[in-house]
Amino acid sequence: MKELLENRCFFKLVCGAGNESVEEVRRLVKLYSDAGCKVFDLSAKPEIVEAASAAKYKCVSVGIKGDPHILKAKINSKCINCGKCAKICFNDAITLNPAKITEERCLGCGKCAKICPVNAIDLVSKDIDLKQVLPKLLPYGVDCIELHATTEDEEETDSKWDIINSIYDGILSICIDRLNLGNKQVIARIKRLIKSRKPYSTIIQADGIPMSGSDDSYKTTLQTVAMAEIIQNENLPVYLVLSGGTNTKTLKLAKLCGINYHGIAAGSYARKIVKDYISAPDFWDNDKLYSKAFNTAKLYLEETMENLNI
Ligand code: SF4
Ligand code: SF4
Repeated sequence: MKELLENRCFFKLVCGAGNESVEEVRRLVKLYSDAGCKVFDLSAKPEIVEAASAAKYKCVSVGIKGDPHILKAKINSKCINCGKCAKICFNDAITLNPAKITEERCLGCGKCAKICPVNAIDLVSKDIDLKQVLPKLLPYGVDCIELHATTEDEEETDSKWDIINSIYDGILSICIDRLNLGNKQVIARIKRLIKSRKPYSTIIQADGIPMSGSDDSYKTTLQTVAMAEIIQNENLPVYLVLSGGTNTKTLKLAKLCGINYHGIAAGSYARKIVKDYISAPDFWDNDKLYSKAFNTAKLYLEETMENLNI
């Protein structure tokens, strides 16, 4: 995996830190692996890492309390069953009559909570005991552990980071954005976390707006590139990967802005373009359908790779 970063051709398909749907992950990994993707970002659950056995490199994601990547939506008793949440959920995690959330499909984006007219959706952190969970994942072959560190809680960030460092000595990744932190805080946090790490053993995943890349526009990806620029300006001994609002425009814009990136993590947009194929009941048996899915994934990957290796 280090080679991909050093050669600046790192492309990671994000299955979703909160995506605990075994079958969906198995399909995404198979499809994007066939299309040429080597690195996959996975939820920190043994059955998910196992389902990703077709992946060449596996990165598992964990988060600090409050980080959107580990939030789960919960419907409370105020629900009036209006259906707005189900309509907006891009991951088909909500069914109606009565409104219900399928937890393993919820990625914690919060769109449903924002649109609910009666505040009937709470977002709750699904915290895990890293000391218990991480050792169970390592036997499946883990090539990177990523900490989503976007809330203001420095103590929680440091404590989770220390645990990860004590359990795993490979490449680590810090996924960070500016939803709760200012520029100075972001840089101070990164500098503190990488202080005890060897040079170029850490990826900084510059997250624009988490889980926002489903629209393929420059505006959607603007914050990703802006965040990358802030990190790049510090000249830190880290690998810089763009994420959170990535789409076909991201690397084009990053190039225009002179960003010296090592790679890209593709989530919402990359999943959206193959969603209909992935959710088809005959995904494994219908060659025609699979070939269409493959071509869609490959086209996106090739378009992106063209702008890697700068
Ligand atoms: S948007 Fe709110 S009120 Fe409407 S179905 Fe969803 S949870 Fe219930
Ligand atoms: S809209 Fe987002 S937070 Fe709400 S259920 Fe769907 S994935 Fe979860």
